[in-house]
Amino acid sequence: MDVRRRIRELSRLLLHHQYLYYVLSRPEITDLEYDRLFSELSELEKRYPQWALINSPTRRVGSDLDNSLEEHPHTVEVLSLDKEYTTAKVVEWMCKLADRHGDHTGFVAEEKLDGASVVLYYRKGELFRALTRGDGYSGNDVTANVRTIPSVPLVLESSDDLVVRGEVFMHRDDFLAFNQRLENRYSSPRNLAAGTLRQLKSSQAARVPLRFNGYEAWMDAGKVAWNSKGTSLSLKTDHVARLSYLQNAGFRMKGHAGFFCRDVGRCREVSQRIPELAAGTLEEFESFVNNARDRRGALNYEIDGLVIKINEIPLRETLGATAHHPRWALAFKFDAPEAETRLLGIQVQVGRNGRVTPVAELEPVVVGGSTVSRATLHNQEYINTLELRIKDRVRISRRGDVIPAVEKVVEPADGHGSIFQLPNNCPFCDSDLVRQGAHHFCPNRDCPERQRRALIHFTARAQMDIESLGEKTIHFLYEKDLVRRIPDIYTFDPDQLLGEAGFKQRKISAICEGVEASRNQPFSRVLAALGIEGIGAAAVRLLIENGFDSMHKLIATAAQGDAEPFAAIHGFGETTARALVEYFQDSENLKMIRELEACGLQMQAQKESGEGDRSLENTVWVITGSFKHYSPRSRAADEISQRGGRIAATVTNRTTHLLKGESPGSKLERALETGATIVDEEQFIDLLRAK
Ligand SMILES: [Zn+2]
Repeated sequence: MDVRRRIRELSRLLLHHQYLYYVLSRPEITDLEYDRLFSELSELEKRYPQWALINSPTRRVGSDLDNSLEEHPHTVEVLSLDKEYTTAKVVEWMCKLADRHGDHTGFVAEEKLDGASVVLYYRKGELFRALTRGDGYSGNDVTANVRTIPSVPLVLESSDDLVVRGEVFMHRDDFLAFNQRLENRYSSPRNLAAGTLRQLKSSQAARVPLRFNGYEAWMDAGKVAWNSKGTSLSLKTDHVARLSYLQNAGFRMKGHAGFFCRDVGRCREVSQRIPELAAGTLEEFESFVNNARDRRGALNYEIDGLVIKINEIPLRETLGATAHHPRWALAFKFDAPEAETRLLGIQVQVGRNGRVTPVAELEPVVVGGSTVSRATLHNQEYINTLELRIKDRVRISRRGDVIPAVEKVVEPADGHGSIFQLPNNCPFCDSDLVRQGAHHFCPNRDCPERQRRALIHFTARAQMDIESLGEKTIHFLYEKDLVRRIPDIYTFDPDQLLGEAGFKQRKISAICEGVEASRNQPFSRVLAALGIEGIGAAAVRLLIENGFDSMHKLIATAAQGDAEPFAAIHGFGETTARALVEYFQDSENLKMIRELEACGLQMQAQKESGEGDRSLENTVWVITGSFKHYSPRSRAADEISQRGGRIAATVTNRTTHLLKGESPGSKLERALETGATIVDEEQFIDLLRAK
């Protein structure tokens, strides 16, 4: 027997039957026959591991090896969508675009699944990487876990370099059955799906009945090698074609989708091409929405609205995107989920910058699939407007589906209690609170709560990511007087903790290792970790892109006392700019930064890359056409991002360079209009060598 060939044959056969079973729900062999093929393959792979395929169907079972969640850049832009809450607004948006770009402009509406967004990258037809959406520019590597999802094709029928974006989600009944068995239950199918994707052992992920539904597809390299099915051509013309490609290739379940266009002939043509697509004029969109809303509760999966996209791909490229979302798509949310519950109390929180926030403590209630027991009350003015008293029955909502808020009092508490008032003094340090604008502040920078909040922000996952110094440990270290200010994290001796309850050698080693590893965190994280008001990851990226790429430059600019250089950054407001100047003029802060520098933290962006070549810093590249040397095209993208450049999918005014291959298409015209530098493959190679 030719073992190698048999392994391939079995792999292909099993992948095919997995597809029939999980995607089409039309198995052609019995479970017993399937199991026999499966165990034959596992046996052979065990004996001849050198011939096991990377995308073998046996990978669906997962492995017990740790897979660390590395970060990789996306080669396509994965922006989030702008949201609307009313049908009228969506129709207005569609009409405006149709007025401007012609009556034949089509719109596709699809169900918006409530799951976890991932991007699948295929090379030569094989799944080689799956990334979470992350921040839209790079995501976490969850490949090993995604391989265990039965409805994700591991191998394509064609040998394409394909990118597919979609949603990992769960069926309601699967969630209920699975969640019941868990010790720590999840509050929604979405949270369980997202948590599973981040499991460190794929054998754990394999146990969770996850599903995948694809909704966008691109050819990664833009190679001319169109296969017999004309995949790349169909992906470039319109979204309807993309959807049917995804469905045929096994990426997509049959869902409810609609096509809307002023041109009735065009509607007819589309509904002939894809009969299951509801097609109609823009006026008919409203009844489509009503149907979708009615159907919602009966579906076996959760949707939180519809996604409406322009059908024509070239028009999408013309429209491009803002910094946050594409101009050619909208998310229509059915409703801001609401619920009623009782207000049990109000907790007064003090943040790292002193701001006082009243937080409602609620009788736990399920809102939009998640259990909520706390909601923000913003400030005293907001409480006054609501006329809020403890024990009131209140309506809460999750506007934009993120932070729950108390919307109104539906039934006042018995008796005549008075409206809740913030205390005059800080509950943590007793300082007199001061009022600035709508908010109250604790002005004492030595306030223990402000210091603890600053420490917790500094070590949190999104900043310095010192897992062993979580909220509880920080509280303990603070209480013991071991860590008070941020630099103490790097100078205190964890061995002093030996013998304290809960501090075994293992925990102490973890703290040492975590602190040590954090010294290598890039400048961008160090800057965000300082906790300056308004300076999170996105603002830090803007600062670095605009040349403020070292602590030294920030301090030198702030020393001039003028907020204008910061305010001039597109996307920065006056308040944030002011906050930067104040922060970097403050002698206490400057002293702390000097101490952190002495502790070996990264104080400039250049040190981020290993070999230190940042020659393409502050450039934004769009890559178009096909290449001789850089095939697949993502290799060119890697070269650029390694040197500090950014990759974008569409040409906008912020694009500085267009890398042009064979058959460059419409992006070249657009780049000529915006004045981006056009670079061909040879010039690109020279450019890389020049450094
Ligand atoms: Zn205080």
